[in-house]
Amino acid sequence: MQTIRGFRDILPEQTRLWQKVENLAFELFEAFGYREIRIPVLEKTQLFARSIGEATDIVEKEMYTFADRKGDKLTLRPEATASICRAYIQHKMHASDPVRKFYMTGPMFRRERPQKGRYRQFYQIDAEVFGIASALVDCELIFLQHELFKRLGLTGLSAHINSLGCPECRPDFTGSLLDFLGEKKHALCDICQRRMTKNPMRILDCKAQTCQAALAGAPATVDHLCPACEDHFNTVKSTLQKQKVDFFIDKSLVRGLDYYTRTAWEIQTTSLGAQSAVAGGGRYDGLVKELGGPDTPAIGFAIGFDRLVEVMEQLEQIPEEPGPDLFIVALGEPAMEAAYHLSCDLNRSGFQAVTDFRGKSLKALMKRADKLNASHVLIAGQTEMAENQMILRNMATREQVSISMDHLVPELKKILQTDNG
Ligand code: AMP
Repeated sequence: MQTIRGFRDILPEQTRLWQKVENLAFELFEAFGYREIRIPVLEKTQLFARSIGEATDIVEKEMYTFADRKGDKLTLRPEATASICRAYIQHKMHASDPVRKFYMTGPMFRRERPQKGRYRQFYQIDAEVFGIASALVDCELIFLQHELFKRLGLTGLSAHINSLGCPECRPDFTGSLLDFLGEKKHALCDICQRRMTKNPMRILDCKAQTCQAALAGAPATVDHLCPACEDHFNTVKSTLQKQKVDFFIDKSLVRGLDYYTRTAWEIQTTSLGAQSAVAGGGRYDGLVKELGGPDTPAIGFAIGFDRLVEVMEQLEQIPEEPGPDLFIVALGEPAMEAAYHLSCDLNRSGFQAVTDFRGKSLKALMKRADKLNASHVLIAGQTEMAENQMILRNMATREQVSISMDHLVPELKKILQTDNG
């Protein structure tokens, strides 16, 4: 049996790096007042269709949707924002405190063509802020990503930012885009021809060469912003500059989801071959209302966890596998049973103690202790057991001492503390 296409296992040799990222990210988010939210992987299809947009790639062709036994249409979440909005509204969080800052991580599902850095089950690290309209929150989120990547030792990343305007100024922009595309309509791909009526802005995002050619010299959203959106974007730019967060304005960046307003951004890298995005984010001031909640400004980002880890592997930012404090070598059946109880007692006293129950020879077990990178080995042979003693070996210095089993835990504590500093 094999995993299905686009799905994969993440093995213990890799998870250490995933944990390192998670720990650093969560510590940073918590320090900025974000709190963890956990949401289901399965939701009603309608939630995603309404929020992400019917005419987007995700909803049109990438969702894992099925009918459950009662015929309800359900979808494996392709992203987290819609579900977090649903939770915000469902639990009436706005009533007790409209300002909420969330973070989460978990798997997302999109039926895309698998390749390096692109999977059908992939993981994202998300942060979302509800109830604050200020551009300073946009900067806080971009800063959080920037700071996290810096702490993880990443280099060669660039932040692309854009402003997509709001319902006030969007019609002016789409009007001039449609005018511009007027005669070129037939040069566009089928999908973009449909986008002309459903969501013209997303034509800017099309990767098809014919569309790209037709778009040369096309109007940009940033040139059609209303004064409020213009102010907002200016604050974002000047504030990022003051925090020394490098960015550049990317007029073609529109992101693949319909709900974005004002600031949208992506963090890109070239270290995975072709240029690809490791993270993206944007404002979605209209979404909470659209989903039936009160009018609430909101903004969030998603970091592509799989891609982030791949970039770190390339930069050899791989944490060392820590060995246990103790490996207990038990020789013979009675010693093995004693070793089992001892490993429980030692772990209860705060040691990391590992043992092996295969009844192998001293040589084989010492080899295993080496492989596991244990700092000390505790040897329980038949002679030692008969004398109510164990031998403690420091694997680095090869020094050995006998310890009476009557004072084992306090003695071990003392010795390990001195040896390991
Ligand atoms: P999005 O939700 O499309 O804005 O994506 C946010 C981030 O998730 C992207 O910048 C990617 O790093 C990552 N991502 C999106 N789709 C995939 C995928 N199929 N496989 C791996 N990572 C992905």
